[in-house]
Amino acid sequence: MIGSTASGGRTVALTFDDGPGPATPQILDLLAQYNVKATFCEIGQNAAANPAMVKRVLAAGHRLCDHSVHHPQPFAKLPHDKAVSEISNAKDMIVQAGGPGTQITWFRAPGGGFNADNEHITAGLGMKSLGWSVDPRDWSRPGAPAIVSAVQSQLKPGGVILMHDGGGDRSQTVAALKQLLPWLVAQGYTFDFPAA
Ligand SMILES: [Zn+2]
Repeated sequence: MIGSTASGGRTVALTFDDGPGPATPQILDLLAQYNVKATFCEIGQNAAANPAMVKRVLAAGHRLCDHSVHHPQPFAKLPHDKAVSEISNAKDMIVQAGGPGTQITWFRAPGGGFNADNEHITAGLGMKSLGWSVDPRDWSRPGAPAIVSAVQSQLKPGGVILMHDGGGDRSQTVAALKQLLPWLVAQGYTFDFPAA
């Protein structure tokens, strides 16, 4: 399971799950403002519904991660055949949305629900299992200040931060990111992708 950046040192990887969604354009604009490249763990059915946004993510230099077709939970309890279809069909849907040559480097299980079976399926499809090291629980909408302080307290060099661009109202995530990007820069962090 991958839980650190590719380069190590004073780097950080930002990851955004459950999109593309209505907040994705705002997040892309903020990342562009700071020239930050991030990783988007997309839900297959969301990618299929908004292929233009998948293409925009790729065109901006970000990378893609498979996050299943329907985001079933608990993911680790799925029967083998269902886990295969959720992982492989989502990969196909995201590639279809992104266009020819789209690379999907990682799979992240919904809710982090990895087990030996779905990690094996992931490896068989040529992807790495992607975890995280920093979880501000932004999906639960604890308030932007709580998201900011959780990241600031949990982050260590080489960390992978889990945030969300889909799955409901993401205004707190966007507000937190507006503070976290300049903070990360001021702390001397450079931005990287997860290890692959
Ligand atoms: Zn998710």
